[in-house]
Amino acid sequence: MNLSRLVYHSQRNRSVALDTKQLIATAQRCNSRDSLTGMLHFDGQNFIQVLEGGRAELSATYHRIANDPRHTNLILISCTEVRERLFPNWSMGLHEASNERVKETYMRYFATTRIDPKQVNVDSLLDVLQDLAVELA
Ligand code: FAD
Repeated sequence: MNLSRLVYHSQRNRSVALDTKQLIATAQRCNSRDSLTGMLHFDGQNFIQVLEGGRAELSATYHRIANDPRHTNLILISCTEVRERLFPNWSMGLHEASNERVKETYMRYFATTRIDPKQVNVDSLLDVLQDLAVELA
């Protein structure tokens, strides 16, 4: 099976109601069906999501996500073939926080507390997500 990894950034659409528990439950159900794994970080305004799995399933899922009115301004940061999953144990882990630990983690990798999706280095971003994911274990 081809294994690919996709990373994007988006922003909450404040004119549409958002229930992250319901969103993640749907994501986990669909991703389990499609053998996709990954992590979603949400700081109250910005989403960063990494999705891993087969090329066809990843592509179909990204198209559904991109058309979802709950978020906007999607920027695809990376989509590449990989040899192994970074988040093999989560059909979709949710890390929802904007606290000192998140800011300190951003600072450590980017020397700023804000992530600019147009500039960010994807490998550093994946390191940040793996650091934050420790809290989910
Ligand atoms: P349905 O659930 O049948 O929904 C039909 C349409 O309504 C779709 O366009 C959907 O986007 C929209 N919709 C659904 N619920 C709401 C709502 N509460 N408010 C407004 N519009 C709504 N899906 C995954 O499969 N895997 C993921 O990892 C994943 N991650 C996501 C991350 C983010 C940040 C967001 C915003 C959505 C994510 N989704 C994910 C959800 C995805 O967009 C689809 O809603 C979901 O895959 C179900 O697809 P569906 O075609 O069955 O749509």
